[in-house]
Amino acid sequence: MNTLENQKIPPIREQRHPETSLAHGSTLCRRKNGGRGCPVSSGANRTFTQGSICPLLPALGIMMSLPETVVLMHGAVGCGTCAMGNNVNVRAGNASRGKPLEDAVWLSTSLNEINVIHGGDGKLYEAILEAYENHKPKVILAVSGCLPGVIGDDIDQVAAKASEKVGAKVLPVHCEGFKSRFMATAYDVVYHALGRGLMPDPAEVGEKLPKTINVMNVGSMGIADERELARLLAEIGLEANFFPVFAHPESFGLAARAALSVSVCPTHDDYFLTHLKEKHGVPFLIRHMPIGMANTSAWLVGIGEAMGLEKEARAVAEREERELGEALLEFAPSFRGKKAFLSAGEYRSLATASLMRELGFRISAIRSFHYDGFAEVEMEKLAKGEDEIVFNVANVQPFEEANLLKRLKPDIFLGHMHGNGTAARLGIPAQVIYNNGYAYMGYKGAYDLARRVRRRLKNRAFYENLGKDARLPYASSWYGKDPFSMINGKEGAA
Ligand code: SF4
Repeated sequence: MNTLENQKIPPIREQRHPETSLAHGSTLCRRKNGGRGCPVSSGANRTFTQGSICPLLPALGIMMSLPETVVLMHGAVGCGTCAMGNNVNVRAGNASRGKPLEDAVWLSTSLNEINVIHGGDGKLYEAILEAYENHKPKVILAVSGCLPGVIGDDIDQVAAKASEKVGAKVLPVHCEGFKSRFMATAYDVVYHALGRGLMPDPAEVGEKLPKTINVMNVGSMGIADERELARLLAEIGLEANFFPVFAHPESFGLAARAALSVSVCPTHDDYFLTHLKEKHGVPFLIRHMPIGMANTSAWLVGIGEAMGLEKEARAVAEREERELGEALLEFAPSFRGKKAFLSAGEYRSLATASLMRELGFRISAIRSFHYDGFAEVEMEKLAKGEDEIVFNVANVQPFEEANLLKRLKPDIFLGHMHGNGTAARLGIPAQVIYNNGYAYMGYKGAYDLARRVRRRLKNRAFYENLGKDARLPYASSWYGKDPFSMINGKEGAA
């Protein structure tokens, strides 16, 4: 059943992908020795946890990028305050795409105790009318946080009623953080709302565009990465339609006319791409993240195969690999044998580990914010090497990270934006591997990351001084314990 089409409320990741896990500690090489080796257990949990990530964080990042759209948070006033940070990406994203340097419009119904008793439906309705009056958007996204979910507000009904009063589409977005422990649910939630509300009926979709490829971007790429992937597709005669971030609500129909959809991060897009295939007949590829030489070539050749352009894609990949290989030679002496430790979203951490190995690094550990079945193929690739790679699934949990870093003593830490503090305070040079201002994807992204890593390794004074003066908040006894001792049902330890 096409749930996007038939259900008002999207399913959570735990339902769609029961193998999903947030807690695991073992090594990748154990997997090599017995096929799947030690599987990640979806039943594992922690006896102690330092926090989690609300799905609103990535969900707001996507929604706020849409032009002529108001994001109306329906919840407590603190709900989704990450929008302040997301707005930086919206401004930078607009500017880098040649658009006016505009802020996203983000509002809140600011529910209080009285609303909890009497319900928040009326407040949401009034807020929608006011938002339209003040901003005249094309779309208003009425986003439910935890509170309306708990007290039972019917945001679908309110959105439908308000739609009759305003000249904008009003779309309900069910993003109650308590419903799912997996941040990745955010992608399904947003695709569900946008797919139901902004995609045209098949009868209204114009003629197919045989050379257009939907390249799905829910915020993993900035403009530098988009340009690189567009360049590679243009080399084999194809045109990229980046979707959905920064896409105008009235341009969504373009995605239904494309010849193929392709993911850049397999964790993100299966929910929507399945719908796009079932409803609009657009086939899709969900394989490989184009980070690193081999992964980029596999991504490009896969598209070539699907589009009858395999020969052309292989020729481009071979040329790019040759040129990149020559360009990277200068880095080899600085990188060979050094140890890298990675921590980021599931696919990004694994794909970047493959890139670091291509650059000559040994991989000490990979920490992944969550695990789902999409990662298996990347894990198998990495398990083929000689390194004993520690693999930790953790929705951040810096206490586990600190313990691992102290034991493994990597030469460099590569982490998600805002996720490098623990390593830096231990005096370990830290490099960001997710920041929309930089290039990471394709052959150019590989070269750029290598350049930044070399600079980081050469200029170590900041980290060394920080390591001497800064302190982490953990008792010294913690560092003597198994880093995964707080994981119930664990399958192994470092
Ligand atoms: S949706 Fe729930 S978990 Fe997320 S910020 Fe709001 S109250 Fe917190």
